[in-house]
Amino acid sequence: MVQSRGQHHIVGGGIAGLATAVFLLRDAGVPGADIHIHEQLDRPGGSLDGSGDARQGYLVRGGRMFEEHFACTLDLLAGIPSADDPAVSAAEDILAFNRAVHASGNCRIVRGGRPAADRDRLGLGRGALLDLARLVLRPERSLGDRTIAACFRPAFFDSNFWLMWATMFSFQPWHSAVEMRRYLRRFIHLFPGFTRIEGVLRTRYNQHDAMIAPMVCWLRQRGVDIAPARQVTDLTIGGTAPARRVTRLAFADGTALAVGAEDRVYLTLGSITEGSATGSADRAPDPAVREGGGWGLWRRLAAAHPGFGRPEAFCGTPERTSWTSFTVTLDRPGFFALMEDFTGNRAGTGGLVSFAGSAWGLSIVLFHQPHFRDQAAGTQVFWGYGLCDDRPGEVTGRTLREATGTEILAELAGQLGLSRDQRAVLSGARVVPCRMPFITSVFMARRPGDRPAVCPDPGGNFAVIGQFCELERDCVFTVEYSVRSARAAVAQLTGRTPPPPPVARTDRDPRVVLRALRVLLGRRPAQDQRAAAGPDALARR
Ligand code: FAD
Repeated sequence: MVQSRGQHHIVGGGIAGLATAVFLLRDAGVPGADIHIHEQLDRPGGSLDGSGDARQGYLVRGGRMFEEHFACTLDLLAGIPSADDPAVSAAEDILAFNRAVHASGNCRIVRGGRPAADRDRLGLGRGALLDLARLVLRPERSLGDRTIAACFRPAFFDSNFWLMWATMFSFQPWHSAVEMRRYLRRFIHLFPGFTRIEGVLRTRYNQHDAMIAPMVCWLRQRGVDIAPARQVTDLTIGGTAPARRVTRLAFADGTALAVGAEDRVYLTLGSITEGSATGSADRAPDPAVREGGGWGLWRRLAAAHPGFGRPEAFCGTPERTSWTSFTVTLDRPGFFALMEDFTGNRAGTGGLVSFAGSAWGLSIVLFHQPHFRDQAAGTQVFWGYGLCDDRPGEVTGRTLREATGTEILAELAGQLGLSRDQRAVLSGARVVPCRMPFITSVFMARRPGDRPAVCPDPGGNFAVIGQFCELERDCVFTVEYSVRSARAAVAQLTGRTPPPPPVARTDRDPRVVLRALRVLLGRRPAQDQRAAAGPDALARR
């Protein structure tokens, strides 16, 4: 065993782990050489991926939308030089990109192979409005582990609002009403632009290139040890309350590390992208569900020690928490030209296009190009996903889980109503389907105590970071949640940095609430109200 002193061990090299390292170094004054990130995969980034090449096909498991009140994320990136220009921070680059590429989707919903005539309407009846109001106004704790389905009458789930809401944020009726309530309140200022996905911030490239690579470079330059292929399988926790502390880390290769009294341990428990499986044009992803260190370590800790919550609530039903995405690489501009014509949006300015009649819950996004920093000249990359990957598609009759890349494109072409000749625009495409068994595990209905606190009680030298610790008011399935948890953990374990700023309470601004109400009641938002959110508003401050 190797003895260590005054060291900071971070389990997991996703954005939560990397942000922890940045805050330790930048704000708490910890030398880089005393920070160690243990990552089980062969490279850091976790869910924020971006890989592949033009020949095999590029792969992103998803695309991230941010917004101006992601205070912890923007603060984190303010200190990191951007990928293209060291004089510009990664945060400034996001804002500059969104000022230059203004996004407002003209075609949020497709119905019957055409842009839906009512795509700017939410279609909420009196009953649905009443249910929404009740959910938002109830105290969070009174909801317990109720599901969204239990809070709304059935007609709500047929509305355009639900289609747009579910596909934008990945909600399902069996998900937690508490999480839906948090989203409704946290993002209420985005309602005026909701049907056009306005007011959200996007990155210039995929998030691995735009955020992870610059952070990893910055950390390594300062001596932080980022160890790939290093899975932490167990922790020894010794002592009794209140002096309980981690004394040892055990790794999958059989080695171990002693953790001294001065050392600190930051644990990413659970992962929404663990067990991701990829396929190809002629092969569907492997259906086997494999848990790795993220769920394994959490299960072990929760079984052995108090205060670690109940992982089973989140990872126990992968058939209910899975969806499948796909990344398509094209050599010719035909499909992008066709879609730009169809939607009236230049690539990168539209956001999600969702197919109302699709049992898969199919949606696609045409990113601003290039989407990869080193993307081969002349290639174009788009992404799509199906929220319900266990239902047979209308065109192929296959479930999305079982579909090959070629079948996914056939389903997409059918949903778009493309003629046989038009389908040629997709020929030669490389398609990488990616099944994620735990992608919506964060949203599963839960009870208080199912998620551990950032510093579980009783505890001494360790903290929980990432998507599955409890943070007041903020919304999971966001980068912001992970970064906020990192900031809270560093503040609590070092005592040398301030806690994260409170979550913005735009739901307490009467003007914001009034605007949202107008939209929900079916009145069109004025242009100036839509413009009240987003990068321009941020730049004006
Ligand atoms: P992860 O990304 O899960 O990283 C955890 C890391 O820890 C992994 O690399 C894992 O391998 C490693 N690890 C875990 N356990 C161990 C162990 N025992 N030993 C060693 N290593 C371990 N967010 C937004 O803000 N906006 C969006 O629009 C958005 N859309 C999304 C779309 C998709 C398809 C996906 C997948 C995510 C999306 N998100 C979005 C969510 C966001 O990307 C994630 O919430 C965030 O990246 C999670 O980061 P994390 O570091 O907490 O966890």
